[in-house]
Amino acid sequence: MTVSKRGLAILILTAAALSAANQKKLPKAGGINFFSKEQDVQMGKEYAQQVEQQLTVVANPELTAFIGKIGKRLVEKGQLDPAYPYSFKVVSEPSINAFALPGGPMFVHTGLIKAADNEAQIAGVLAHELSHVVLRHGTNQASKAQLIQIPAMIGGMMAGGSLAGSLAQIGIGLGANSVLLKFSRSAESDADLLGAHIMAKAGYNPIEMARFFEKLEAEMGSSGNSKLLQFLSDHPNPGNRVKAIEDQLPYMARGPFNAQEGELKRMQGIVDKLPAPQKKRPGQGSGSPAPATAPKPMGVPVSSNMKPLQGAGFAIDYPDNWTVNNGQNSTVIAPKEGLVQNAIGYGVIVSVAKSRSGQVNLANDTRALLQQMAQQNPGMKVVEQPQQIVLGGSQALVTKLASESPYANTRETDVVITVDRGNALFYMIFVAPEPDYQQLEQVYQQMARSVRFQ
Ligand SMILES: [Zn+2]
Repeated sequence: MTVSKRGLAILILTAAALSAANQKKLPKAGGINFFSKEQDVQMGKEYAQQVEQQLTVVANPELTAFIGKIGKRLVEKGQLDPAYPYSFKVVSEPSINAFALPGGPMFVHTGLIKAADNEAQIAGVLAHELSHVVLRHGTNQASKAQLIQIPAMIGGMMAGGSLAGSLAQIGIGLGANSVLLKFSRSAESDADLLGAHIMAKAGYNPIEMARFFEKLEAEMGSSGNSKLLQFLSDHPNPGNRVKAIEDQLPYMARGPFNAQEGELKRMQGIVDKLPAPQKKRPGQGSGSPAPATAPKPMGVPVSSNMKPLQGAGFAIDYPDNWTVNNGQNSTVIAPKEGLVQNAIGYGVIVSVAKSRSGQVNLANDTRALLQQMAQQNPGMKVVEQPQQIVLGGSQALVTKLASESPYANTRETDVVITVDRGNALFYMIFVAPEPDYQQLEQVYQQMARSVRFQ
């Protein structure tokens, strides 16, 4: 596009005026995370060994140098956290994908190099993946999914033990839809935003990242090309990616950006001449990635016979075909069918939080708890504001929330009951997929009414 000088000046002024009010803060690594940065690094090294046993790492020095140089430029010019030993390898895989493990190891599929229109688009994918690494999204998501088991797992680990091995024991690995590699929409918008800033600092046009993602989506939509499935399912579109980055351009390092630079065409020629890959990720057929396998909610068995559970300072009745899982700070009462992909699809969480001020303020402490839950569950919304009730002789509030279910394409209902226990806030969270909530409401009410405090 060409514009006259006067037109350009107006364009810049308008852009600045329009976006002056909505500069977005750069995202930081935050939210709940039971792992240290050092453990991210250790975990990444262990998983990288697994990956290299399963995929064919390309030995071609030119191709390796090409990707390595883009990665180094982003890490250095983008001034990324030096705590992580970033590394970049090319793997011989025709599917359009790239993934970064916690702590820095990144693997770029040859199919992705083939699919890019210019070097900046490859830099865009790398910058986006690097952002997931420095924002620690993988271990943050694992922590959220395994709120109960991970602290115990880390506490019980022997020095020098394998993190990947311990995580495997609680069902976390690198398979399809791994919690370490499949990101929430809010993690996606954070990785887009930080990735765009990293690109701009390194002299790449940040728009190319969003353009590439949207191009893949358009191709997927029109052709049903399964080569794209894993990448788009791991990095779901958080909304209009191009516009979101355009809005922030005034606050980024300035070009000139040259999207056509580099030796991409020659590299694509090298990819064409590579021998066919020998190794496969487990569960993957020849060249086609595993389909998204998150199950659909199926309903769960609820016995009408209740039995009592004696907890610390409280008692509650629950269906006698459900199981009780005691964690460090909370108890989960759920049918075993309701625990899915390391998260609670159906069931009840019972916990106690010490009041920070020593004396519970029911309204304030409930608000703090809901905020904490919202941080850990992107997309969580209050559906019905807190209502006062009396539970087991104590003042309590009931709040109804909606959030994303661990089941595919499903929202869930979460009813939170917070109880004033003097110096501590006792709370219960009743969870069910939205379509099935009604079916469980009666037993949940029965459980809530059965609570006794001692
Ligand atoms: Zn992503």
